[in-house]
Amino acid sequence: MFFMANWKMNKTIGESESYAERINELLEGEETKHTIVIFPPFTALRSLSEHLKGISVGAQDIYYEESGAFTGEISPIMVREAGASYVIIGHSERRRLFGETNESVQKKALSALKHGLTPVICIGESIGEREAGRTINIIKEQLGYIPKDKKVIIAYEPLWAIGTGRSASSEEIEEVHRFIKGIIDAPVLYGGSVNSRNSGEILGIEGVDGALIGGASLDADEFFSIIKSAK
Ligand code: PEP
Repeated sequence: MFFMANWKMNKTIGESESYAERINELLEGEETKHTIVIFPPFTALRSLSEHLKGISVGAQDIYYEESGAFTGEISPIMVREAGASYVIIGHSERRRLFGETNESVQKKALSALKHGLTPVICIGESIGEREAGRTINIIKEQLGYIPKDKKVIIAYEPLWAIGTGRSASSEEIEEVHRFIKGIIDAPVLYGGSVNSRNSGEILGIEGVDGALIGGASLDADEFFSIIKSAK
């Protein structure tokens, strides 16, 4: 199973080092067969990657060019050097707030693969699209832009479930994961208000290969409880 912690715009370098100490302590002696990845802000990538034991780190985004006049952007080469081996691409907050499109997601995914980063590509429908019965069409359209590469990981994150405390139902998750797996041979994670109270049930759903966790991953003990809830 995959357990991925998306910290979003949270934690300073100092705070991320304290987190690393705590999660290392919790995982010590645990024989884990899981892949655990933390996605801190860019500024904490380097030090977090040096402090964590047995946990990988990833970037929350990249730009697709290698270098150049792109003020404010970060390249795949730079995040690799800072210790990242994964990168989240197309998170709904980037699509909604920062103009990310299916086309830019595709370019970033190809660039990540070229530079040896594992892309964790987020897809999902809005509440309006779900209510209009368009979920599967939206997912199909988004998948059309995703490289069919064996390193790709998909995160299904219904927009209405992110940061709202309302996760999708087991039936809703199972239906979409089955559809995704029919199109692409990749691990499919669920994301959207996962916490230690609902993770056992969510991780037990057919077709769920792990979780991408936002808010609940900010606390090391809570993140550890979510990992422990996997059968
Ligand atoms: C996310 O940021 O990808 C996410 C799923 O957030 P949350 O767990 O807070 O809903």
